[in-house]
Amino acid sequence: MTERLVQQISANIEAVYDNVKAKVSYALKDSPDRSLPRLIAVSKRQSEDRIEAALQAGQRVFGENRVQEAAERWTHRQASYDDLTLILIGSLQTNKAGDAVALFDEIHSLDRIKLARSLKKAMDNQNRYLPVMIQVNTGEEPQKGGCLPADLPALVAECQTLGLSVKGLMCIPPIDDDPSLHFHLLHRLAQQNGVEKLSMGMSSDYAIAAAMGADDIRVGTAVFGCRDT
Ligand SMILES: *Cc1c(COP(=O)(O)O)cnc(C)c1O
Repeated sequence: MTERLVQQISANIEAVYDNVKAKVSYALKDSPDRSLPRLIAVSKRQSEDRIEAALQAGQRVFGENRVQEAAERWTHRQASYDDLTLILIGSLQTNKAGDAVALFDEIHSLDRIKLARSLKKAMDNQNRYLPVMIQVNTGEEPQKGGCLPADLPALVAECQTLGLSVKGLMCIPPIDDDPSLHFHLLHRLAQQNGVEKLSMGMSSDYAIAAAMGADDIRVGTAVFGCRDT
């Protein structure tokens, strides 16, 4: 890894925060105690030297969408950094719930009751209780993960019954839609269902999401550059 790559990724991270601050500053006038969103650097399918550069640049919160890939990339690094926060942002099969609970610090892609039960069982087995966010399929796209808005109240209620700590909601807007419609819907669903946090916004729309009240933004290519395909 070169010094140049560290500088590049530092500059990318700084640019993300600058864009966020530019959008959030006016929103902060309404609620001055609101803090800037947390940047989840999405490291899926990025090269090892870019990951190392991001760590050297001081980034400590990372998002991954596959359990196996994340384990290969992060297990050894968790041993050397005690301040990493690793977040699952991709769909999870119930039979991988145990692996996910062991590896990750937060799970942001809970989307069905069966998975909630598997996660709770895995947390009980490992005595390791992670915060979760529920992914909502705000565009109701058949190919996409996330619970339908209509199914959200039942899922939230089941999590409460199980004793899972639901921190908030996450969404990935349809590629061709105005993302602000989906961010607005997510905000409303959070209020209606009594959950607090919002994870919304990716490389193309994180500044809009920040202006609309995102607590977490999930940024991959704007931090690291294009992914391997
Ligand atoms: C890949 C991914 C991202 C990051 O996407 P970019 O466009 O590279 O910023 C964010 N959220 C989820 C759920 C993802 O799978």
